[in-house]
Amino acid sequence: MKTFGICRFCNIVSGQYQHADIDRPFCENDAFIAVASIGALIEGWSLIIPKKHQLSMKATYNRPELEDIMDQVIPSIVRKYRPLIAFEHGSNREGSITACGTDHAHLHLVPFSESLIPSLENSNLHWVKCHASEIASRVGNNEYLFYSEVGTKDEWRRHIGYLHILERPISQYFRQLIAARTGHYEASDYRKFPYLETSKQTRKTLVGSEAQIGVEI
Ligand SMILES: [Zn+2]
Ligand SMILES: [Zn+2]
Repeated sequence: MKTFGICRFCNIVSGQYQHADIDRPFCENDAFIAVASIGALIEGWSLIIPKKHQLSMKATYNRPELEDIMDQVIPSIVRKYRPLIAFEHGSNREGSITACGTDHAHLHLVPFSESLIPSLENSNLHWVKCHASEIASRVGNNEYLFYSEVGTKDEWRRHIGYLHILERPISQYFRQLIAARTGHYEASDYRKFPYLETSKQTRKTLVGSEAQIGVEI
């Protein structure tokens, strides 16, 4: 019998899947995996996850392996779905509500044709333009939110995103914005609304594309 550890993403990295037809990575390299997100309000919603357990992505934004997996996954999502937005809820301690129910770092990639920038500008949070690779030096030990629009893989390299340094933890910020835009007001908590069929379809679609490198179907 499989034994599951405490961290859902460490389990996935070590091949322990709760839902193999969702959790099994559709793309991976030495340092990262790409998986279909559970709780996806939109088909194609994926996560980039570092293999090593860490609280946020900030130490990994400069890694060539991140660029490598983004170069595979972004064109695949764009081709199968549409251009995407990328965002992270960067937490700084185990159990923080800023992390979306997992203490293991991850970057959300969501095929979404609307920009969330107007919502960010109209929010009461202060956003600064920033490249992902600058996040670590800007935030220090604070929690943060990062948002970026990624039409193509070159845009990911060049693109300037929007950074907010959190003064207090905030729960599922971007998911709530997307839930409001898509009329899923009820669904801002993915544990109550896991939408597993959507996630299964995402994996099925992306595993058959060129993003699939070195993974079993
Ligand atoms: Zn972990
Ligand atoms: Zn998240």
